[in-house]
Amino acid sequence: MVETLSIAVIGAPGVGKTSIIRQFIYNDFSEAYTPTRSRYVYRPSVILNGNMYELKVLDVPPISSFPASASQEWLDLRCRGVRNANAYILVYDICCVESFEYVKMIRQQIVENREGSSSEVPILVVGNKRDLQRQRFMPRRAVSVLVKKTWKCGYVECSAKFNWHVVLLFKELLGIAVARGMRQNHTSTRLQGALQRNRCTVM
Ligand code: GDP
Ligand code: MG
Repeated sequence: MVETLSIAVIGAPGVGKTSIIRQFIYNDFSEAYTPTRSRYVYRPSVILNGNMYELKVLDVPPISSFPASASQEWLDLRCRGVRNANAYILVYDICCVESFEYVKMIRQQIVENREGSSSEVPILVVGNKRDLQRQRFMPRRAVSVLVKKTWKCGYVECSAKFNWHVVLLFKELLGIAVARGMRQNHTSTRLQGALQRNRCTVM
């Protein structure tokens, strides 16, 4: 059975969310900035460690906050499906401290607004524009320690422009999701296999 995992990609405007998704799925990058005005859903199929997953990747346009209730989500077309996503990719620009503050706020709201055990949903924080790292506002190690130790989220830096660590970040997120038992039909054997091997293919 193929499982569908919905992944919401959230971040401040211009940090590279659409670029990361399009690089992952189409191996495509554009220097021109076209702001994403409405929510867009991509549906790639991927194979991770021999298991196939259908992903529903939500490219979420700028939202001022994580929807606090189901009715709020329903009223705002931009964030449909965001509350019930199986996993989150929170993107910031390593050269822009405000974009990191935004990610910090959204992470806090995800934890507060998703109830019970679903507040332990996999979250991967992604520092994009690694190619511009001379202008970064904080050393990589310091951010990584904060995100991993304090926020208990995964952390990856990538460059959508040069397709650097883009596949890796999706692989990391899926790995976390699988390890936390997001797959409804997993068996312990499959889970072990997924953790031991190390492959991810976009179909
Ligand atoms: P979004 O608003 O978060 O979806 O951001 P976009 O994906 O539309 O990208 C915003 C701008 O940043 C565009 O001009 C991209 O070409 C540029 N951009 C995206 N990723 C990178 C990257 O890794 N490095 C550099 N240098 N520019 C990038
Ligand atoms: Mg966009």
